[in-house]
Amino acid sequence: MTAEKLPHCPICRKTGMSVMDLPAQSARKQISAVFGVEVPGEIKIPDYTMLQCTGCGLVYANPMIAGGADYYGWITAQPKYSAGQRWEWGKIATALANRTGKTRVLEVGCGNGKLLQFLSANKNLVLSGVDVSEPSVRLATEKGLDVRLVDFSNPDTSLDKNEIYDVIILSHVLEHVSDPLGVTRALASHLNAGGAIFVSVPYSPMSRELDGWDIQNLPPHHLTRWNKSSLECLGLELGLELSLETAKAKSPFKRAVQDTCGRVLGNKHPGTFARMRAVLGNFKMFVDFYNRHRNREFIGTRPAGDTALAVFNKK
Ligand SMILES: [Zn+2]
Repeated sequence: MTAEKLPHCPICRKTGMSVMDLPAQSARKQISAVFGVEVPGEIKIPDYTMLQCTGCGLVYANPMIAGGADYYGWITAQPKYSAGQRWEWGKIATALANRTGKTRVLEVGCGNGKLLQFLSANKNLVLSGVDVSEPSVRLATEKGLDVRLVDFSNPDTSLDKNEIYDVIILSHVLEHVSDPLGVTRALASHLNAGGAIFVSVPYSPMSRELDGWDIQNLPPHHLTRWNKSSLECLGLELGLELSLETAKAKSPFKRAVQDTCGRVLGNKHPGTFARMRAVLGNFKMFVDFYNRHRNREFIGTRPAGDTALAVFNKK
């Protein structure tokens, strides 16, 4: 495939360079290895290529097609899948607590409403949510949350015209949608003056991806992989002012030990002695991993963690 024929960046429309092939068979095998159970054959997974934008650095899938309802139904039912409370929840709660008066908050892709429940301690917030999954909406509603079924992934059929919010939250949602700019642009049109969109995404490459990208941060799961420059570019495209924070970075030493053991010992869970032997026996490799982790990109004064909280402010 020539560069001209590759789809352009979904954010800045510049050309993309192919950086990785992900054939369906390989994706299937890796997902099965993570969850310890075969991906059912009837779940369709296309062959993907990963492209990196030559302008903003966003890494995006070709084709930009996420796993369907059957894929998400299967993966969200895996015991290993469910995430507990996330780092950025506290940050979001603090930012909301600093707002005065009643604050209308919409969580887009709220799932069964864990974050909304977490935020509900603040009685100044008028909380609501939308999600594409009917079972999730039902679960959230049973908890007494104001959540409805909306296909927000299609910017044209998203929210009602007259809906206005002070804060719109997308927690680990943006990386799943096939039109991240269209979705956020449509949402931005529902922001009040002084409002903000809070977007949390994995910060890519994640520190565990130094020695190869993690299938959980690739399609059919994640269609886009974000970093500082691509999030800045999204802010420019939206005409909103970005403030960016990341979780605390993991220790380069611990990461280098983990990477070395991963490379040398594979997916086993080695004991202390085996780990020490792997590191000492492959010390050059360890030092190489260590130096690369130490050179991780900085956000402000700190090396980037594995999750970013991007706040897009409307002035
Ligand atoms: Zn771009």
